[in-house]
Amino acid sequence: MALRKCPKCELNYLRPGETICHVCASAMKRKKPVPVEEEEVVMCSNCGEAPAVKGHDLCEECLREQKREAELELMADKLRADEADMPIEEDIEDEEENDEE
Ligand SMILES: [Zn+2]
Ligand SMILES: [Zn+2]
Repeated sequence: MALRKCPKCELNYLRPGETICHVCASAMKRKKPVPVEEEEVVMCSNCGEAPAVKGHDLCEECLREQKREAELELMADKLRADEADMPIEEDIEDEEENDEE
């Protein structure tokens, strides 16, 4: 079986079953889905594995995670605020040192 050269670049030999060489194949693959974006993609600053959502420096997943944590924190804050609403009388008596003259 004679080796055939890639019809595209005519440099590399084809392996059985290939119609173009792997170099051209990966070049084509790279060329295909290039979304036209004016800005370069910023990667998530948290996981660094997914592109960040526009206007944020986190990816969608990390944003969701952050939101969930923020909500949990908000709830915790609310609980704390509720507790703070109830006056703690024990602490007040200590502050009767107004002996200014
Ligand atoms: Zn080729
Ligand atoms: Zn992320």
